Amino acid sequence: MSLNFGKAEFARSAAAKEQFFWDGKPQFAFAGRSNVGKSSVINRLLNRKNLAYVGSSPGKTTQVNYFSVDNRAYLVDLPGYGYAKVSRAEKERWGRLMESYFQEAHITAGVLIVDIRHKPTIDDLTMHRWFLESGCPEIIVANKLDKLKKSQIEPALALIRETLALDEEDILVPFSAEKGTGKEELIRLLNAACED
Ligand code: GDP
Repeated sequence: MSLNFGKAEFARSAAAKEQFFWDGKPQFAFAGRSNVGKSSVINRLLNRKNLAYVGSSPGKTTQVNYFSVDNRAYLVDLPGYGYAKVSRAEKERWGRLMESYFQEAHITAGVLIVDIRHKPTIDDLTMHRWFLESGCPEIIVANKLDKLKKSQIEPALALIRETLALDEEDILVPFSAEKGTGKEELIRLLNAACED
Protein backbone atom coordinates (compact mmCIF):
# COMPACT_ATOMS: atom_id res chain seq x y z
CA MET A 1 0.00 0.00 0.00
CA SER A 2 1.32 3.43 -0.95
CA LEU A 3 2.58 5.74 1.76
CA ASN A 4 0.54 8.85 2.40
CA PHE A 5 3.18 11.58 2.29
CA GLY A 6 0.59 14.11 3.34
CA LYS A 7 0.44 12.41 6.74
CA ALA A 8 3.76 13.45 8.19
CA GLU A 9 5.10 14.74 11.44
CA PHE A 10 8.40 15.69 12.98
CA ALA A 11 9.78 12.72 14.87
CA ARG A 12 13.24 13.50 16.24
CA SER A 13 16.50 15.41 15.81
CA ALA A 14 19.62 13.34 16.26
CA ALA A 15 23.02 14.86 16.96
CA ALA A 16 24.71 11.54 17.75
CA LYS A 17 24.32 7.98 16.59
CA GLU A 18 22.65 6.89 19.83
CA GLN A 19 19.68 8.99 18.73
CA PHE A 20 19.33 7.44 15.29
CA PHE A 21 16.24 5.38 14.55
CA TRP A 22 16.91 1.79 13.54
CA ASP A 23 13.48 0.30 14.00
CA GLY A 24 13.20 -1.45 10.68
CA LYS A 25 10.90 1.08 9.01
CA PRO A 26 11.94 2.26 5.56
CA GLN A 27 14.15 5.36 5.57
CA PHE A 28 14.47 7.87 2.77
CA ALA A 29 17.66 9.87 3.28
CA PHE A 30 17.68 13.37 1.80
CA ALA A 31 21.00 15.13 1.24
CA GLY A 32 22.08 18.32 -0.46
CA ARG A 33 24.28 21.35 -0.35
CA SER A 34 22.91 24.08 1.89
CA ASN A 35 20.64 26.46 0.04
CA VAL A 36 19.90 23.92 -2.68
CA GLY A 37 16.31 23.90 -1.44
CA LYS A 38 16.37 20.66 0.57
CA SER A 39 13.97 21.98 3.21
CA SER A 40 11.68 23.35 0.50
CA VAL A 41 11.67 20.00 -1.33
CA ILE A 42 10.82 18.17 1.91
CA ASN A 43 8.08 20.63 2.79
CA ARG A 44 6.63 20.31 -0.69
CA LEU A 45 6.73 16.53 -0.53
CA LEU A 46 5.09 16.39 2.88
CA ASN A 47 2.61 19.07 1.89
CA ARG A 48 3.58 21.32 4.75
CA LYS A 49 4.76 24.89 4.73
CA ASN A 50 7.29 24.83 7.51
CA LEU A 51 7.88 21.32 8.72
CA ALA A 52 11.49 21.23 7.55
CA TYR A 53 13.15 24.49 8.44
CA VAL A 54 13.83 26.64 5.39
CA GLY A 55 17.00 28.70 5.39
CA SER A 56 18.92 26.73 7.99
CA SER A 57 21.76 28.57 9.67
CA PRO A 58 25.31 27.24 10.11
CA GLY A 59 24.64 26.20 13.70
CA LYS A 60 21.93 23.82 12.57
CA THR A 61 24.08 21.81 10.21
CA THR A 62 24.98 18.99 12.56
CA GLN A 63 21.64 17.37 13.15
CA VAL A 64 19.83 14.58 11.41
CA ASN A 65 16.11 15.34 11.41
CA TYR A 66 13.57 12.54 11.18
CA PHE A 67 10.05 12.98 9.90
CA SER A 68 7.59 10.18 10.27
CA VAL A 69 5.65 9.49 7.06
CA ASP A 70 2.27 7.80 7.46
CA ASN A 71 3.62 6.17 10.68
CA ARG A 72 5.28 3.62 8.42
CA ALA A 73 8.48 5.22 7.14
CA TYR A 74 10.95 8.02 7.84
CA LEU A 75 12.06 10.87 5.75
CA VAL A 76 15.55 11.56 7.05
CA ASP A 77 16.80 15.09 6.55
CA LEU A 78 20.59 14.81 6.56
CA PRO A 79 22.46 17.98 7.49
CA GLY A 80 23.30 20.23 4.54
CA TYR A 81 26.88 20.68 3.44
CA GLY A 82 29.05 23.18 1.63
CA TYR A 83 28.04 26.12 3.75
CA ALA A 84 30.89 28.62 3.33
CA LYS A 85 30.83 30.07 6.83
CA VAL A 86 30.99 26.84 8.77
CA SER A 87 33.98 26.38 11.11
CA ARG A 88 36.39 23.52 10.73
CA ALA A 89 35.19 22.03 14.02
CA GLU A 90 31.62 22.00 12.76
CA LYS A 91 32.67 20.48 9.44
CA GLU A 92 34.40 17.71 11.35
CA ARG A 93 31.33 17.14 13.49
CA TRP A 94 29.26 16.99 10.32
CA GLY A 95 31.65 14.41 8.84
CA ARG A 96 31.55 12.17 11.91
CA LEU A 97 27.77 12.32 12.13
CA MET A 98 27.36 11.44 8.45
CA GLU A 99 29.90 8.66 8.66
CA SER A 100 28.08 7.08 11.57
CA TYR A 101 24.76 7.40 9.79
CA PHE A 102 26.07 5.79 6.63
CA GLN A 103 27.89 3.05 8.55
CA GLU A 104 24.76 1.83 10.23
CA ALA A 105 21.92 2.90 8.00
CA HIS A 106 19.81 0.59 5.95
CA ILE A 107 18.72 3.30 3.57
CA THR A 108 15.67 2.42 1.51
CA ALA A 109 16.40 5.18 -0.97
CA GLY A 110 18.87 8.04 -1.04
CA VAL A 111 17.71 11.35 -2.46
CA LEU A 112 20.49 13.66 -3.57
CA ILE A 113 19.24 17.17 -4.28
CA VAL A 114 21.27 19.30 -6.66
CA ASP A 115 20.61 22.70 -8.22
CA ILE A 116 19.52 22.25 -11.81
CA ARG A 117 21.30 25.48 -12.76
CA HIS A 118 24.74 24.42 -11.62
CA LYS A 119 27.33 21.75 -12.24
CA PRO A 120 27.32 19.45 -9.18
CA THR A 121 30.10 20.34 -6.72
CA ILE A 122 32.86 18.13 -5.33
CA ASP A 123 30.75 17.80 -2.17
CA ASP A 124 27.78 16.62 -4.26
CA LEU A 125 30.04 14.03 -5.84
CA THR A 126 31.21 12.84 -2.42
CA MET A 127 27.63 12.47 -1.24
CA HIS A 128 26.73 10.66 -4.45
CA ARG A 129 29.57 8.22 -3.78
CA TRP A 130 28.39 7.65 -0.20
CA PHE A 131 24.95 6.72 -1.44
CA LEU A 132 26.43 4.39 -4.06
CA GLU A 133 28.71 2.74 -1.51
CA SER A 134 25.84 2.23 0.90
CA GLY A 135 24.22 0.14 -1.82
CA CYS A 136 20.84 1.90 -1.68
CA PRO A 137 18.95 3.00 -4.77
CA GLU A 138 19.59 6.66 -5.40
CA ILE A 139 17.30 9.32 -6.82
CA ILE A 140 18.88 12.57 -7.98
CA VAL A 141 16.53 15.52 -7.73
CA ALA A 142 17.43 18.56 -9.84
CA ASN A 143 15.69 21.37 -7.97
CA LYS A 144 14.83 24.95 -8.96
CA LEU A 145 13.56 23.89 -12.38
CA ASP A 146 11.35 26.98 -12.47
CA LYS A 147 14.47 29.13 -12.70
CA LEU A 148 15.39 27.80 -16.14
CA LYS A 149 14.02 28.59 -19.56
CA LYS A 150 12.67 25.61 -21.44
CA SER A 151 15.65 25.53 -23.82
CA GLN A 152 18.09 25.38 -20.88
CA ILE A 153 16.61 22.30 -19.24
CA GLU A 154 18.03 19.48 -21.38
CA PRO A 155 21.62 20.86 -21.40
CA ALA A 156 21.42 21.39 -17.63
CA LEU A 157 20.28 17.80 -17.03
CA ALA A 158 23.01 16.53 -19.37
CA LEU A 159 25.67 18.41 -17.38
CA ILE A 160 24.43 16.88 -14.13
CA ARG A 161 24.42 13.39 -15.67
CA GLU A 162 27.90 13.86 -17.03
CA THR A 163 29.38 15.32 -13.83
CA LEU A 164 27.93 12.61 -11.61
CA ALA A 165 28.75 9.96 -14.24
CA LEU A 166 25.17 8.71 -14.24
CA ASP A 167 24.12 5.76 -16.37
CA GLU A 168 21.01 5.86 -18.47
CA GLU A 169 19.06 3.89 -15.92
CA ASP A 170 20.05 6.23 -13.06
CA ILE A 171 17.14 8.37 -11.99
CA LEU A 172 17.26 12.14 -12.38
CA VAL A 173 14.07 14.03 -11.58
CA PRO A 174 13.65 17.67 -12.64
CA PHE A 175 11.91 19.32 -9.70
CA SER A 176 10.59 22.63 -8.50
CA ALA A 177 9.90 22.93 -4.80
CA GLU A 178 8.46 26.32 -5.62
CA LYS A 179 5.90 25.08 -8.14
CA GLY A 180 5.50 21.46 -7.14
CA THR A 181 6.81 20.04 -10.41
CA GLY A 182 8.15 16.50 -9.99
CA LYS A 183 6.43 15.87 -6.67
CA GLU A 184 4.20 13.02 -7.83
CA GLU A 185 7.09 11.36 -9.64
CA LEU A 186 9.30 11.52 -6.56
CA ILE A 187 6.55 10.07 -4.38
CA ARG A 188 6.05 7.28 -6.90
CA LEU A 189 9.78 6.49 -6.89
CA LEU A 190 9.99 6.46 -3.09
CA ASN A 191 7.00 4.15 -2.85
CA ALA A 192 8.56 1.89 -5.47
CA ALA A 193 11.81 1.73 -3.45
CA CYS A 194 9.83 0.35 -0.50
CA GLU A 195 8.58 -2.52 -2.64
CA ASP A 196 12.02 -3.58 -3.93
P1 GDP B 1 18.18 24.32 2.16
O1 GDP B 1 19.25 25.13 2.80
O2 GDP B 1 18.75 23.35 1.18
O3 GDP B 1 17.22 23.67 3.11
O4 GDP B 1 17.35 25.33 1.22
P2 GDP B 1 15.98 26.07 1.47
O5 GDP B 1 14.84 25.14 1.34
O6 GDP B 1 16.10 26.91 2.69
O7 GDP B 1 15.93 27.01 0.17
C1 GDP B 1 16.95 27.97 -0.11
C2 GDP B 1 16.37 29.09 -0.94
O8 GDP B 1 16.01 28.59 -2.23
C3 GDP B 1 15.09 29.69 -0.36
O9 GDP B 1 15.10 31.08 -0.60
C4 GDP B 1 13.98 29.00 -1.14
O10 GDP B 1 12.82 29.78 -1.23
C5 GDP B 1 14.63 28.84 -2.50
N1 GDP B 1 14.11 27.68 -3.26
C6 GDP B 1 14.04 26.39 -2.85
N2 GDP B 1 13.52 25.60 -3.80
C7 GDP B 1 13.23 26.41 -4.86
C8 GDP B 1 12.67 26.19 -6.16
O11 GDP B 1 12.32 25.08 -6.57
N3 GDP B 1 12.56 27.28 -6.97
C9 GDP B 1 12.93 28.53 -6.58
N4 GDP B 1 12.77 29.52 -7.45
N5 GDP B 1 13.47 28.77 -5.36
C10 GDP B 1 13.61 27.74 -4.51
